[in-house]
Amino acid sequence: MSDRSFRFLWHRSIFVKLVAVMLVTGLSLLLMVASFVQLIISPNLVTSRRLVAEYARALAASSPDFERAKQLAAHLDLQVRYEGPDGTWETDPDLPSIAEIRSGHWHDYYVAPGSNGGTYLISWELGRRMREFHNTMLWLLHVLMLVIVFLAYVVLRHILRPLRSLHEGVTRLSEGQLDVVVPRWTRDELGVLTDAFNQMVRRIGDMVRARDQLLLDVSHELRSPLTRIKVALALLPESEKGRRIAADVAEMEAMITELLELERLREGRGMRTERRDLVPLLREAAESFQDRPPGVRLALPSEIVLDIDGEKMRTVLRNLLENAVKYSLPDSGPVEISAHENTETVIVRVTDDGPGIPEEDLANLFEPFYRVDRSRSKKSGGYGLGLSICKRILEAHGGGIAVANNPGRGATFTLTLRKPG
Ligand code: ADP
Repeated sequence: MSDRSFRFLWHRSIFVKLVAVMLVTGLSLLLMVASFVQLIISPNLVTSRRLVAEYARALAASSPDFERAKQLAAHLDLQVRYEGPDGTWETDPDLPSIAEIRSGHWHDYYVAPGSNGGTYLISWELGRRMREFHNTMLWLLHVLMLVIVFLAYVVLRHILRPLRSLHEGVTRLSEGQLDVVVPRWTRDELGVLTDAFNQMVRRIGDMVRARDQLLLDVSHELRSPLTRIKVALALLPESEKGRRIAADVAEMEAMITELLELERLREGRGMRTERRDLVPLLREAAESFQDRPPGVRLALPSEIVLDIDGEKMRTVLRNLLENAVKYSLPDSGPVEISAHENTETVIVRVTDDGPGIPEEDLANLFEPFYRVDRSRSKKSGGYGLGLSICKRILEAHGGGIAVANNPGRGATFTLTLRKPG
């Protein structure tokens, strides 16, 4: 793993942090054991070895015979080999020869001359066993640490499972899915957090539904007084004031019609889908905006057959192009409409070269009545319903709409539509 990807994981994953903390703890313990061996046991072993070397020299100088060597072997846990003018003997047949010891790096074997002209090889069995034990212990500790870290990894993954579910839940909620329910795996703090999250989602869902219902009720209620005002206006003598009031009433009517349309779409009512080619619709929409600066450019395949409601798709394209043209700057390049097919979806993009959308507004842009800049929107005549209608229309088609700022300038609206199954 590269340094950058580790740092990325470190900052993004609490799980990686916990495993790293465990690894560091394990390594510290290992270091403590190694230091203990190095500082306390090793110096004592070195002294013992010096003692044994001295003893081996003294023993060889006393030139013990085979019988005496056997007694010592049983009593002091030593093995002895003798090679001399009067023959060769050993207390253990597995002992190496003196020549072998002299030619290699052997530990805990001592070679010393005897007073009878021969040479003695004395092996300190306890020292050898302790050395082997140390090596085995070291390996065992490493393996044990790896096993413990692995087990801890598995246990941590299990313990942190609710966190992953919560993460998925939060992601789905931020995508606007208000029906998400995160399963509760445990009764601990994470379980409590999961309950609180589910409750929060329920309350948000209730609030959004209440808001939509309020909008619907107000829209319905406003229709009758508006009709009465229109009738009253028609009965009044013609005047400038009367014309201005009539224009305001017309605007309110348009808004109410859009709000009611929004509600109809949410319930999936009034959709008339049929199999048709999307490309002529895109061309037709582009043509109606061709004469308005900065113009429209097309990058389309020859045909895209989809199950769509042609009228509703026209509304979507009209709203998007209206915005793209309306918010274009004097030096903006033409708006571009492009489309391409994937295996299961069709992607249509409307890209403009305008000012783009402030990052903090991107998430709410498709909410009813949401405007980036109230004064600017008022001036440009919108009241923030166009994009929410686009979203509902695409959702009623089983698709979606998203927006992102371009790397250079302007914004791109991406429509996703399902291909006929
Ligand atoms: P409106 O009728 O106010 O344009 P919309 O729902 O169509 O309402 O758009 C909501 C807001 O999103 C607009 O007020 C505008 O601030 C912003 N917006 C939409 N399209 C664009 C765009 N292409 N470039 C910049 N801002 C945009």
